Amino acid sequence: MIMPVHTYKIEDSLYINVTNRCNANCAFCNRKKNAVIKGYDLKMKKSEEPDESIYIKEIGDPKDYNEIVFCGYGEPTIRWEVVKEVAAYVKKNGGKTRMNTNGHGSFITKRDIAPEMKGLLDTVSISLNSVDPLQYAELMQVDQKLHSEMIDFAAKAKNYATVVMSIVGLNEVDKEKAKKFVLDEIGVNYRERTFFE
Ligand code: SF4
Repeated sequence: MIMPVHTYKIEDSLYINVTNRCNANCAFCNRKKNAVIKGYDLKMKKSEEPDESIYIKEIGDPKDYNEIVFCGYGEPTIRWEVVKEVAAYVKKNGGKTRMNTNGHGSFITKRDIAPEMKGLLDTVSISLNSVDPLQYAELMQVDQKLHSEMIDFAAKAKNYATVVMSIVGLNEVDKEKAKKFVLDEIGVNYRERTFFE
């Protein structure tokens, strides 16, 4: 039997399983299914979510890894205070940090969190998913207004961290249009990715 993990290593990076909770419900997400990635069981109830001390203990020396990545099958900004505590520890100890997010953090926390990333997160990877608000809402099963929330967050985040906006390689998504939008209109990095990473 595989046991749920709080941190998990993929290649040279250590990933932090922050939460399985999310405000979205993407058609391609494994969060509500088995939540297994590369043999790691990430399924975790809210009551099982550890506090920052557990993550920090498991990280040990962050310089042992290429990056410490806040990811998991879920939206890390739902536990934004925990992310910040762990990221502060990593930065204080010479490590690199990245957060993979749906970009709804300011909506979730009901305040602009972009400035709070300064000095804590080196990279923020935001799922653009689609440049079309209607397709975005359908893919993620969220209100269309979250498309502009996500874009606004990305535009602000680039003042405090390196921003990468990504598209999942689904056939129905216009990837060329997305790439042009990310590079020319938002002015951040673009990446096409597989379903969840
Ligand atoms: S935003 Fe991310 S964690 Fe949430 S349902 Fe979509 S893919 Fe899964």
